Amino acid sequence: MKLLDVHDLQFSFKTYAGEVQAVRGVSFSLNVGEALGIVGESGCGKSVTAKSIVRLNPTRNGIYKSGTIMFDNKDILSLSKQEMQIIRARDIRMIFQDPMTSLNPTMRVGRQIMEGFKVAYPNMKKEEAKKRTLDILYSTGIPNTEERFKQYPHQFSGGMRQRAMIALAMVVKPKLLICDEPTTALDVTIQAQILDLIKEQQEKTKTGIILITHDLGVVANIAKNIAVMYAGKIVEYGSAQDIFYNCMHPYTWGVLQSIPPKDADINKPLVPIKGTPPDLLKPPKGCSFTARCPYAMKACKEMPPPVYMADENHSVACWRYHPNAPKIINPITQREVQLCPTK
Ligand code: SF4
Repeated sequence: MKLLDVHDLQFSFKTYAGEVQAVRGVSFSLNVGEALGIVGESGCGKSVTAKSIVRLNPTRNGIYKSGTIMFDNKDILSLSKQEMQIIRARDIRMIFQDPMTSLNPTMRVGRQIMEGFKVAYPNMKKEEAKKRTLDILYSTGIPNTEERFKQYPHQFSGGMRQRAMIALAMVVKPKLLICDEPTTALDVTIQAQILDLIKEQQEKTKTGIILITHDLGVVANIAKNIAVMYAGKIVEYGSAQDIFYNCMHPYTWGVLQSIPPKDADINKPLVPIKGTPPDLLKPPKGCSFTARCPYAMKACKEMPPPVYMADENHSVACWRYHPNAPKIINPITQREVQLCPTK
């Protein structure tokens, strides 16, 4: 059953220099209880896409240019401010890279979570809210819950604060949890623990998850499907299996080749993607990856590539899949590129 359906979303920011076209025609959907990873480098539009879903982009200069966002059969873009506040309080929760921006630094952590219970269940008694708060702190892996309940956010470590944020978000049992770079500020061991916690909560509560990250490795164990974004567009979409073992877009190839493998030879250099993304004040008229793509052809500069379907859940936007394009070798699979690759 569909929980979220985003269709042809275009979102821009008006600036003194002109209009920054941050999101340029993004479409995807998410079923109830599923997890989707949105992956791409900084400035590719992934966070703007996520904030568009909850209408949290700045209204002063942000503009929805086109598109529809249907969440739980509601048209998000036609809801009133009050209706959106209720959706954000109960149905769609967001956690960010820095929990200090979301936790109130002047309020004890336990009290903040209890307030969350009050919003979700207005008739709940104080003792019951406290008991549930202690339970949820415990279930998110926070030790000494009685003591932690009374502490302020600055008395928590970075990983503990992120656990508290997850607890706060899960209080209302949201239908959708959007995690925007939730582990970027944490060290590797804590990162893995927080990702395990998100996965555990998703499996336990059947909450839909959108996990936004610049790091493909982060989504590997959580996401059923992955959208790879570049310069405001989804350039490849597929199952996690497709993206890791059978990816088709030259940008995805570049991202995978720049990740150190587990058994990496320290003497073997990683392969970076040369160059920088285009200026979204004036996006290129053809494929946005042209200037950095080793496989670019004349057509790439002139027209945006169509979206080709490799199968019903795997799409790629690249001219190299046009039937008349000269064939190249996929550096990940070492096979000639084709639309129906042998898996
Ligand atoms: Fe590279 Fe052309 Fe494909 Fe763009 S359309 S990714 S430039 S080959």
